[in-house]
Amino acid sequence: MLLNILFAMFSVFSLKTDTSAAFSFSDDIDVFPRYKQLLVNIREQRISTLEAENEFRSILSILKENYPNTLDSSQIGNFVFPLTQSNYSAVGGNGSGFFIKNFNLFDHSVSGNHPAHDIFIYDPDQDSMDNRKQAFVDIVSVGNGVVLAVEKDWTDSSEYRGGNYVWVFDFERGGLWYYAHHRKIVVEPGQIVKPGDKLGEVGRTGFNAKNKRSDTHLHLMYLELDQDYYPKPKNYYEWLKAAVTIRKPTQAEGPVRHFFGKLFLIEPLPPKKMDVRNFDCKVKKRRV
Ligand SMILES: [Zn+2]
Repeated sequence: MLLNILFAMFSVFSLKTDTSAAFSFSDDIDVFPRYKQLLVNIREQRISTLEAENEFRSILSILKENYPNTLDSSQIGNFVFPLTQSNYSAVGGNGSGFFIKNFNLFDHSVSGNHPAHDIFIYDPDQDSMDNRKQAFVDIVSVGNGVVLAVEKDWTDSSEYRGGNYVWVFDFERGGLWYYAHHRKIVVEPGQIVKPGDKLGEVGRTGFNAKNKRSDTHLHLMYLELDQDYYPKPKNYYEWLKAAVTIRKPTQAEGPVRHFFGKLFLIEPLPPKKMDVRNFDCKVKKRRV
């Protein structure tokens, strides 16, 4: 028994040393809880827009320094359509659903924008299953990145609009993807995702998305960052048109499961540094 415990401890420690080599910003692992806390603070209007902006820049500077982008904004790269067995014909209004008046990620009171595309499934009875396929529809990562934050606990009484969501920092393009309204989420913050890895399933969670007048869809926003890490939504419709459709999703690596007797401890895998082509990253050091 004692030997078993010693062995278990040894395996855990050896796992830890294994991963430290791959994890390039181990001191900054709190970027994941910090990003989630920031989103909640913005939503609950607990911080000023300036404070939110500074915290965002601080988090993104850590990510950008560890993962300089490998594509420039004119390159599409390997881009997978975010729903399996679907393509750009499922995008709302043939791409005209994207509009910005005065978008500000840091100010929850700003409205009247739709800086995103809605991608629909065929679900007239609104049970979140695609009626032609009689199945739930997989949401997959469009590119390579790290899961920054997830919300899994949305309930009917929650007032926030995104419902259950996933944020991914895109290693190649250097921006952020926001996937919203999931019925189910299968990834954790810190997990590395590749194009086509399953993030979750299309659902109707969210203050507006749950209503009858809303057809079942994925809401997908992409935020580019300028040289000062300020986020600006990009109309990425051209990427959706050029995207590769996949039939079946792949599964993201991890999370790691440590076994202690009957108890499983589940941890996300620490991010691995990707091989990057150096694009002469023009980002300035953060000013905050
Ligand atoms: Zn939307």
